[in-house]
Amino acid sequence: MSNPGETVHTTCPYCGVGCGVKVAIDADGNAQVAGDKTHPANYGRLCSKGAALGETLSLEDRLLYPEIAGQPVSWDEALHAVAEGFRRTLMEHGPDAIAFYVSGQLLTEDYYVANKLMKGGFGSANIDTNSRLCMSSSVAGHKRAFGSDTVPGCYEDLEEADLIVLVGSNLAWCHPVLYQRILAAREQRAGKPKLVVIDPRRTTTCDAAETHLSLKPGSDTALFNGLLIHLYQQDRLDPEFLEQHVAGFWSAYQAAKAVAPNVPTVAARTGLLESDIAEFYGSWGRTRKVVTIYSQGVNQSSHGSDKVNAIINCHLATGRIGQPGMGPFSITGQPNAMGGREVGGLANQLAAHMDFAPDEIERVQRFWQAPVIARHPGLKAVELFQAVADGRIKAIWIMGTNPVVSLPDADRVREALRHCPLVVVSDAIANTDTVRLAHIKLPALTWGEKEGTVTNSERRISRQRTFLPPPGAAKPDWWSMTQVARRLGFGALFPFESPAAIFREHAALSGFENAAYRPHPLHEGAAEGKKASCRDFDISALADLNDADYDALQPVQWPLPQSTPTDTARLFGVGGFFTADRKARCIAVGPRGPAHAVNEHFPLILNSGRIRDQWHTMTRTGKTARLTNHIPEPYLEIHPLDALACGVTENMLARVHSRWGEMIVRVRTSLEQQPGSVFVPMHWGSPLAPRGRINAAVNPVVDSVSGQPESKHTPVRVQAYRPSWHGFLLCREAIEPPEVEYRVSVRDRECWRYELAGESMVSHWPIWARDLLGDDPSWEWLEFADASAGRYRGAVLLDGRLRACLFVAPSHELPLRGWLAGLFAVQELDSAERASLLAGRPGQGQRDGGRIVCACFGIGLNTLTTAIREQRLTTPQAIGAALKAGTNCGSCVPELRQLIPQN
Ligand code: SF4
Repeated sequence: MSNPGETVHTTCPYCGVGCGVKVAIDADGNAQVAGDKTHPANYGRLCSKGAALGETLSLEDRLLYPEIAGQPVSWDEALHAVAEGFRRTLMEHGPDAIAFYVSGQLLTEDYYVANKLMKGGFGSANIDTNSRLCMSSSVAGHKRAFGSDTVPGCYEDLEEADLIVLVGSNLAWCHPVLYQRILAAREQRAGKPKLVVIDPRRTTTCDAAETHLSLKPGSDTALFNGLLIHLYQQDRLDPEFLEQHVAGFWSAYQAAKAVAPNVPTVAARTGLLESDIAEFYGSWGRTRKVVTIYSQGVNQSSHGSDKVNAIINCHLATGRIGQPGMGPFSITGQPNAMGGREVGGLANQLAAHMDFAPDEIERVQRFWQAPVIARHPGLKAVELFQAVADGRIKAIWIMGTNPVVSLPDADRVREALRHCPLVVVSDAIANTDTVRLAHIKLPALTWGEKEGTVTNSERRISRQRTFLPPPGAAKPDWWSMTQVARRLGFGALFPFESPAAIFREHAALSGFENAAYRPHPLHEGAAEGKKASCRDFDISALADLNDADYDALQPVQWPLPQSTPTDTARLFGVGGFFTADRKARCIAVGPRGPAHAVNEHFPLILNSGRIRDQWHTMTRTGKTARLTNHIPEPYLEIHPLDALACGVTENMLARVHSRWGEMIVRVRTSLEQQPGSVFVPMHWGSPLAPRGRINAAVNPVVDSVSGQPESKHTPVRVQAYRPSWHGFLLCREAIEPPEVEYRVSVRDRECWRYELAGESMVSHWPIWARDLLGDDPSWEWLEFADASAGRYRGAVLLDGRLRACLFVAPSHELPLRGWLAGLFAVQELDSAERASLLAGRPGQGQRDGGRIVCACFGIGLNTLTTAIREQRLTTPQAIGAALKAGTNCGSCVPELRQLIPQN
C-alpha cells in the first residue's frame, strides 16, 4: 500500500494492450491516475476506461467478508467448508467431478496456484478460463502453425508496418491505445501504415481506414484462402523461407484452391465486389511490411482456428513474420489472458506451454514433486458447464468471472449452477449473477489491492502493484487457494507466502529441461537420463529474483532464458519454430462456415461484442457516470431496412429471440450495420439490466479445435416489444428498483437513472410513485397526471432541491434525460425550472448536452453537434480547441470525426 505523495507504477486491469499506469494518492486519500510515460505498451497514453480508473475504486458493491449460505463467517470456517466440500467430492466421485473456472482478470501468480492445485493437487485438468471465450482459437491456430502458442511480433510492428489489415477487430473501441499508436505513426510517416478493415460491420475503427471490406459474416477463410492463391499466382511467395522454415504449403494451397480458386469465387463467397478484393490482394501482395491484426471477430467462431490459420498461412508463405513491421498479430481481450496461457490455465494445456504428451506430464510432475497429476485434457468452458448441468461435475470453484452473464446459452449456465451441489465463488463484487448462486463466497482483492504480474498481447510481463489497503477481510486468490490446498493435505506443493515466491517457481518451471534457447537443443539442461524439450515460453532468467527485484521488476518481453536475459521483441524471423523439425506448418483450411444458418424463423445474424467505455460485466466501469453516459442502455444496432421488416423503429424496445433464449433491448438503426446482421453489446447483467443479458440468446456451438464459442453468429428474430407504459426515474440516491418487465439502472452524474417499461397497467401513478420512493411531510411533490392519456410527470423536492423525478408515457417518446439529470446539481430550483419539470421539456436557457461522447471532459452529443454547426468546426482539432473534447485520452476522436460530415 502506498502513502500520500508516493507514486506507484502499475498496469491497467482492462484490455490486453496492458498499459502502464501511474497512481498517486493525494492528501485526501484519492487516487490520481495517469498514463505511465515509461511503459513501452502505451508511453503515457490511456483510453477513456484507463483514464477513469480513479473513479472506480469505491467499496460500494464489494464482497468484504466470507459467507456460507448467505451468512458471514470467518475465513477459517469458509476455508474449512471449501476444503471439506472438495475432499468429499474427490472421495465420492473422483477428481474429474471437480472443476475450476477462472479468469483473464487473475494475476499470473493466482493463475499458477489455481492450475497447480487442479492439475497437481486433485489430478484433474478440469480448469478452464474465460479466456476460452476470447482467444482460444488464436492459441489453437498458433500451436498448429508454430508448434507453440507464440505471438511472433510486438507493438512497434504496428508503427513500422506499411499496411495493417484489421480482421474482426474494432481496435478503436476495444484496444484504443494501440489504435492511437497507429494513428500517431501515420502522422509521422506520411499516412503509413495504410489501414484495411475487414468486418461485416462498419465500426468506428473504419473511420481512419483507407478500405473497409464489409464481407459476409463468417467468410473470412474464403477471403484469406483466396489471398493465398493470389500470392502464389502473382509470384509473391518467399521460396527460400518456405523451403527452409515451412512445411505443408502445398496441402494448404490445394485446400485454398478448392475453396477460393479465383476472385469471382471469393466474391461470391464473401459478398464483396471483385474489384475491392483484387485491390486488397494486390496491396497485400505488393507490401512487404504488412501486419494482420485479428481479434474476437476471428476467434469467436465455430471455425475460428481455421480463420487464424488462413491468415497465418499467408504470412508464412511470404516469409512476412518476425521481422520489423510484419507478421500475424493476435490481440487479446483481457489484461492477463496471456499470463493464463503461460501457466497452463486452459483445460487443454498442462503448464508452462507444455501439454499432455507423456514426457511433458512426467516432467511437470517431477518438477512439482506432485503425488498425482492430470494425464489428459480437461473440459473446456462450454462443455465444463454442460458437465455441471448434467451432474458430472459436482463441485466448482469460480474465480473473478461471471459466467452466468458471459457464457453463451447463459440461462442454462444459471440453471446448471443452481443445481450444482457445491458452488464456491471468489470475487471482489458482492452481487453479480454468478456470486448470487454461490454456496460459499470468498472475498477477493481487486486492482490496486493485489500484487503480481500480467502479460500483455506482445508477450510483455508487467507488474500490478498495490496502492490501497485490503478492504474488510478480502484476501488474494493465491492465498485462499493455498490455504485450501494445505487443508486438503497438499501443503508440500503450496509453501508460498508471497506472490514473489510463486513467480519464482513459475519462472523456474518455464526453464526446466527447456533447451529452446540453448546452443545444443534437445540435450543440454535435462536431468540425468531425461531428454530436454524445446519450448517457446522460457522466463528462467527471472527465476532467481529476490523479493526486492520482483518488486522493482520493469516491463519485459519473453522469452527470457537464463542465457539471454533481455527483451525479445520478435520471434521466427529466421525460422526456429517449435515443432520437431523446427519448421512452421501451413494448415489446409477447408470450407467450414458458421454452425447455424439463418432460416425463416430466425432470419438475422446476431453479433455480440464490446463498446468503447465498458469492460466485461461493468462491475468496475459501471461505477462512473463519465463511462456509463456514453452508451447508457443495452442496444440493438440494426440496418434501417431490417428494422422496417421487423417492425421496429429508432429508440423503441425490441425482443431479440434465438433458439436458446431472449433479451429486451433498445433499438438503434444504423447504416453501418450490414443488412441481415444485428449487433448487441455483451456487457449488461441482471443487477443493472435483468432482461439485457445478450448471452441468454447466444449460440453455445464451439470451434471443434479450440472449444471457443461462436459468439459472433447466432440466428435470431427481432420483434417489437410493446409494453403498456414506458418511463424513467431519476433519483439522487440509489433505490431498490421496481420489479417491472424492462429495467436498466444507470449511474448518472449526480443521480441514478432507471429506464423502465411495464406490461401491467398502473391505475394511479401518484400512488405508485409514493410506494416506490416513499413519502415524507417535508417533501414537496410537483405532479402532472393525465390518466386517460397514460401520462404522468412527478418530481420530489426537499428544501427546493430535486430529490427524484418520474416520467411515464404510453410510448418511448419521453423527455430528455440529460437536461433533467443536470437539475440535480441545482441547489434550489427556481420557478422556471419547476415549470419545465412539469412541462417535461427544458425551458429557455436550459440545455440538454445529450449522451456523453467525450468521457474525459463530459461533452455530450448535443453540445458537439451544436458547436460543429454554429462554429463551423471541420476537424477534430477544431472541436478540441473549441470544447476540449478529444484532447485528453483521444478515445472519442473517431466519433468526433464521424460527427463532422453528419452535421
Ligand atoms: Fe487500459 Fe485502455 Fe490501455 Fe486497454 S487501452 S490497457 S483499457 S488504458
